[in-house]
Amino acid sequence: MNDSYDVIVVGAGPAGSIAAKTAAEKGASVLMLDRRKEFGAPVRCGEGIGLHWVKELNLKVSPKAVSAEISGAALYGPDLKTRLIIRDDESKGFVLDRKVFDKDLAHDAGRAGAEIKAKTDVIDLLKEGKRITGVKAKTLEGETIEVKSNVVVDAEGGESLLARLAGLNAIATLYDTDFGVEYEMVNVECEDLIEIYFSNEFSPRGYVWIFPKGKDVANVGVGIGGLNAPNAVHYLNKFLADARVKERLGKAQTVAVKGGLIPVGAPLEKMAVDGFIAVGTAAHQVDPIHGGGICLALDAGMIGGRVAAECALAGKTSERDLSAYETEWRAKREKKLLKRLKLRKTLEKLNDADLKAIFENLNDADVAKLLSGDYAPVVKKVLVKRPQLLKVLTALV
Ligand SMILES: Cc1cc2nc3c(=O)[nH]c(=O)nc-3n(C[C@H](O)[C@H](O)[C@H](O)COP(=O)(O)OP(=O)(O)OC[C@H]3O[C@@H](n4cnc5c(N)ncnc54)[C@H](O)[C@@H]3O)c2cc1C
Repeated sequence: MNDSYDVIVVGAGPAGSIAAKTAAEKGASVLMLDRRKEFGAPVRCGEGIGLHWVKELNLKVSPKAVSAEISGAALYGPDLKTRLIIRDDESKGFVLDRKVFDKDLAHDAGRAGAEIKAKTDVIDLLKEGKRITGVKAKTLEGETIEVKSNVVVDAEGGESLLARLAGLNAIATLYDTDFGVEYEMVNVECEDLIEIYFSNEFSPRGYVWIFPKGKDVANVGVGIGGLNAPNAVHYLNKFLADARVKERLGKAQTVAVKGGLIPVGAPLEKMAVDGFIAVGTAAHQVDPIHGGGICLALDAGMIGGRVAAECALAGKTSERDLSAYETEWRAKREKKLLKRLKLRKTLEKLNDADLKAIFENLNDADVAKLLSGDYAPVVKKVLVKRPQLLKVLTALV
C-alpha cells in the first residue's frame, strides 16, 4: 500500500466498488478499504432490483448474480388475500445473490486498477484544519495505519460513521429509519412475482415481503419503522404464525437470518466538505417507500467516483469543487425521492380499515400512477369511497 492516493473509497458495497472503478478508469490512483473479510457477506438485504435500473445504468449483471427473474409485483391488503398485480417496468426485475453481485463489482474495481484491502476497518479521518486529508484504519494484521488522499469517498452504508466525523449532519432519527429482519426460507412455493404485504398488524409503518430466490426458496422479511424496531422479529414471526400464511408457508424452514437498518428519510442536506464526499446509503440515498438503495447507491457511486477523480487530478478538492457531485445527483434524483417521502409519510397515517378500502378500490393502473408520482387522480378516486381521509390525503396534492 502507498502512503497516499488521489482517492480513498471507504466501503466495498455497490456505491464504493462502482465509485472506485469509475475513479480508477478516470486515471486516479484509488484505494478501496472494507472491514469485511468477504465483500457482500453477510447479506443484509432483500436483494431485489428493478429492470428499469439495469437498463438506465447500463449494468452488466452476471447470470450467477441473479437468483431469480421477476415479472412483476403482487401487493396485498391487510386481509393478506386481496391483491393487486402490477407488471410494469418499475416492478419487473431480479432478486440478486448479493454475495456474487457485490463481489463482481469489487472485481471490476480491481480490474480497473483500484487497490483493494479487505478486513481493514477505517476508524477515523485525518484532517488539516477542516479539510479531510485521509483515513486512519486498522488492518488485517492488527496494525493502525494512516493513508493520505486528495478525496475520501464515504460509501459505508447505513451505519456510516465518517460522514458524522466529517461534520455532516448524517444522523438518521429512529422515526426516519426502518429496521429490516429477513429469513431466507426453503419450501416456499414461489411465483415469478415479488410479494408485498401492507398491514399495521404485521408491519407498522412498513411492509412484509416475500422475494423469490428460486423455485422454492425466498427471502421472507419485514421492514418496520424504527420506533417499533425492537419488535421486528416478533412481527415477522407473528406473520409466519398467522393461519392464512401457514396455509402456504407451513412447511417453510429458515436457512439464514439477515437484517439491518435503512435510512428512509430525506437524503443528507449536504454531501460534500473539503476533501470528502458521501455516496449511497451513507448519504441516505434510499427510496423512502420501499427502502431500496442498491441502484441509487450505484448511480451515486458512479457520479461521485467520476467527480472525485476529476477534482483530485485537477488538484481542486474544496467543498465547492466537490459539490459538483451533489448538484448533479440532486438534479437527477432528489425531486422524485422527496415526493416518495411525502407518500411514505401519508401512507403511515392509514389504519388497516383505510388500507382495506384502498385495496378494494384501486387497480394496477392506479398503483402505477402512484409510483410514478401522479397522485391527484388516485387521491380523488380514494376520497369518493373514503371521504374521511380528506385531511390525510390532501398532503399529497
Ligand atoms: C433488511 C434489508 C433489506 C433490504 N432490501 C433491499 C432490496 O431488496 N433492494 C434494494 O435495492 N435495497 C435493499 N436494501 C438496502 C440496500 O441493502 C442498501 O441500500 C445498499 O446495500 C446500499 O449500498 P452501499 O454501497 O451504499 O452500502 P452497503 O452495501 O451497506 O456497503 C457498505 C460497505 O461499507 C463497509 N464499511 C462500513 N463502514 C466501514 C468502515 N468504517 N471501514 C471499512 N469498511 C466499512 C461495510 O462492511 C460494507 O461492505 C435493504 C436493506 C436492508 C437492511
